[in-house]
Amino acid sequence: MKVIGIVPRGYCKGVVRAINIAKKNTPKDKPVYILGMIVHNQYIVQALQDKGIQTIDQKGKTRLELLDQIDDGCVIITAHGASDQVFIKAKEKGLDVIDASCLDVIKTHDLIKNKLNEGYDILYIGKDGHPESEGAISIDPKHIHLITKKDDFFQLDQSKKYVLTNQTTMSLYDVYDLCEYAKKHLKHVEIAKETCTATKIRQEAIHNIQDDVDVVFIVGDPRSNNTKKLASIASEKHEVYMIESVKDIQIDMLKHKQTAAVSSGASTPTYLTNQVIEYLKQFDYNDKNTYQKPIIDKQRILD
Ligand code: SF4
Repeated sequence: MKVIGIVPRGYCKGVVRAINIAKKNTPKDKPVYILGMIVHNQYIVQALQDKGIQTIDQKGKTRLELLDQIDDGCVIITAHGASDQVFIKAKEKGLDVIDASCLDVIKTHDLIKNKLNEGYDILYIGKDGHPESEGAISIDPKHIHLITKKDDFFQLDQSKKYVLTNQTTMSLYDVYDLCEYAKKHLKHVEIAKETCTATKIRQEAIHNIQDDVDVVFIVGDPRSNNTKKLASIASEKHEVYMIESVKDIQIDMLKHKQTAAVSSGASTPTYLTNQVIEYLKQFDYNDKNTYQKPIIDKQRILD
């Protein structure tokens, strides 16, 4: 089968940095915890667990609440960032704090803090319950308002001045629509789009997939926001399957297909994406000998 590996794809610089920080801090004389999933990928979480690094995560609990489950040792803050309150509470509990927040997330936090100091309220386009939104909004929940849809603008006080910004992994296209809408409906709004470069160029590459591609595979965890966005953009013009690994490819997905394109979320292990590409390259629908899937070697997930 002809296979096009979309470029760029996979790990972004923030994820590489966070994983390297975690790998360097495997426990020696005290326990090491990650506050929330380091990235939204269960293979990576398991691989770190196998090295003795425990992930503390519970649906519906904030980073601040999750800290109650850690009493000693070292805590790693994930690439999604966290509010100042999380850092303060961790230090008050006597924990060593290792900050793996992505520098792009820190840049957005700095922008928010500066604009709050100048007397603005912040409108934050993000996903409800996502750790990055949680970290940003908890900077000042009274003056930072989560925007998930156009209707949210109608609840706002028109006498205030606002800055509209966003979670770094939001779709460029969704953010654009909400910004245009805000400009029309709010009296005083400044726009500060913060979709990060890694997200932008991955989304643009998906948008530009050539028309003659028969099927697109996006490799990533179903909880990964940026992976879902890539799949959603690709589905505007192509048949798309979101898969976690080569194991999820069904033979029917490849029936009558000549050309496949493959991309992956910013949190997807390169090893898993490469395995999908290699499998598709050797696949021939008319030759059942090519149907056999390779085994996933868990030792190679953090390569
Ligand atoms: S997606 Fe962007 S903001 Fe998020 S970790 Fe990667 S580079 Fe940083």
